[in-house]
Amino acid sequence: MTEISLKEKYKHLSELEQMILQCISCGDCREATDFSSDPPKWGVCVARDHTPGFEPFFGRGKMQIIRSLWQGKLELSKDMAEVIYQCPTCNACSEACFYDIDNASFYEALRAELVDAGYALDGHKEMNQAMTDLLNPYQRDNKQKNDWLEKLDFKIKDASSEKADVLYFVGCTTALTPQIQTVAINTAKVLKKLGVDFSVFGENEVCCGSVAMRTGDRKAFNYVSDKNLDLFQKSGIKTIITSCAGCYRTLKLDYADLLKDLDINVVHTIELVYKIINEKNIQLNNLGINVTYHDPCHTGRNSGDTPLYEEPRELLRKMANLVEMATIKENAKCCGAGGGVKKAFPELALEIAKSRVQEAEETGAQNLVSICPFCFRNIDDAIKALNSNMKMVDLLELIDQALN
Ligand code: SF4
Ligand code: SF4
Repeated sequence: MTEISLKEKYKHLSELEQMILQCISCGDCREATDFSSDPPKWGVCVARDHTPGFEPFFGRGKMQIIRSLWQGKLELSKDMAEVIYQCPTCNACSEACFYDIDNASFYEALRAELVDAGYALDGHKEMNQAMTDLLNPYQRDNKQKNDWLEKLDFKIKDASSEKADVLYFVGCTTALTPQIQTVAINTAKVLKKLGVDFSVFGENEVCCGSVAMRTGDRKAFNYVSDKNLDLFQKSGIKTIITSCAGCYRTLKLDYADLLKDLDINVVHTIELVYKIINEKNIQLNNLGINVTYHDPCHTGRNSGDTPLYEEPRELLRKMANLVEMATIKENAKCCGAGGGVKKAFPELALEIAKSRVQEAEETGAQNLVSICPFCFRNIDDAIKALNSNMKMVDLLELIDQALN
């Protein structure tokens, strides 16, 4: 097959054409090493410890598969999909790559090729179908996105009919998972205490499409992103805030070109809260607790040029004693839920999260804090499975308590 026809065949990979052959198969990403520590820490690749462990489960193997497809030496297959999806696309491998290859963008392009060729995993097909049919991937009536609003003792503006510059984009995981609705409730309470004028879409909120983009279903992603753009445009909002790392990364990066013309800025709630607290010199009460902090991949490695490493930590230090885990920031171990792993390989997601909980336990802290409901849910499942005394906490919950 000629180069031209391979380009036509692999249209998603061809968008990354310039970088495909830059991988020299050195294998540094095989174990995604943390070279920033002395001595270097080995094994930040969470797929390494919890899969059968053959080369394609790691970064280098996936890059070799991509190269072989591109050179016409290999064909897409169902067996390939089974392996490629056993990776939360955490992108720790990219941190290890001397050549600055953004590995996760290659894995996502490969997944898009697999989906187009008919090799999507059944669990992902169900999830992405629900996302387009019901506007959330959890196969729930979207009206249930109003449930958390009824638990508040104050009213929030409805973005469909009332004007506010700031839209709080709640996200499907937070709005539709009963034990995590507290993330939305605490976000709303903190915003109110800080005097932010904001709105929400409630039952009209459409999934951002993160799950589709991460699992390679570009058609499903385009369907919901079109709907969201329409909603954003009609509401006249200027800033979108979200307390979900997955929504944050998706709206900030995957919607970047789409939002440019609308002049809409996307920030994580923590960025806004951090800014207000510092500008107004608002004091946070010391809660007298020991905490450790888990960096979500989508507010760190996968969030572009401005990762949110310091803001959550500075806020935590104002109200608690922060004890760091062995792997943090750009080298933090992933919770294991992302990239469609929680849906298609729940046992793998749980095993990865268990090792993160064990890492947190080694700090001696009793509270494991994060800023992502998806990490929250997976790590909390692991805490329960391990019968651990660790408590999973969203940072907004602590800020709400410290503002009293
Ligand atoms: S992606 Fe980078 S670190 Fe990994 S094998 Fe290729 S060149 Fe080496
Ligand atoms: S994205 Fe994460 S889990 Fe997947 S190969 Fe890279 S380091 Fe390993």
